[in-house]
Amino acid sequence: MPRRRKTFPCGHKGYGQTCHRCQQKDKVREEKKQQKQEWESTFAADPIDLSSLPIHVVVKAREIIAGLESQKNYREYNGKRLRHNRWIISIPVTRNYRMLCKDQGSLLIPQAVLSHEDYNVDKPGS
Ligand SMILES: [Zn+2]
Repeated sequence: MPRRRKTFPCGHKGYGQTCHRCQQKDKVREEKKQQKQEWESTFAADPIDLSSLPIHVVVKAREIIAGLESQKNYREYNGKRLRHNRWIISIPVTRNYRMLCKDQGSLLIPQAVLSHEDYNVDKPGS
């Protein structure tokens, strides 16, 4: 007996019990949701909150954090001490973002990643 093509309640046409087009769409949506949750769960491992930053900034910031944790010198990342606070080191992350780290003597503790706008507002005396 030839299989008969039918119209599903969603309006798509096809064979079988359920609409494969909608099933596929649901699967993609489910996968995207899962990817998003996985991505969001990675922020728990960061020493500072990066969750509000664009993805490319997050990726770069994590590279820098990992480098600092493995004893790389901040100068390798073009970091500079702030003129008005020598214990704070500013490391460029991207053109528009920089990471502030506190110098604890033997190690640098990341404090925050700020955009240029945030940074200029926070700067004392400006
Ligand atoms: Zn459908």
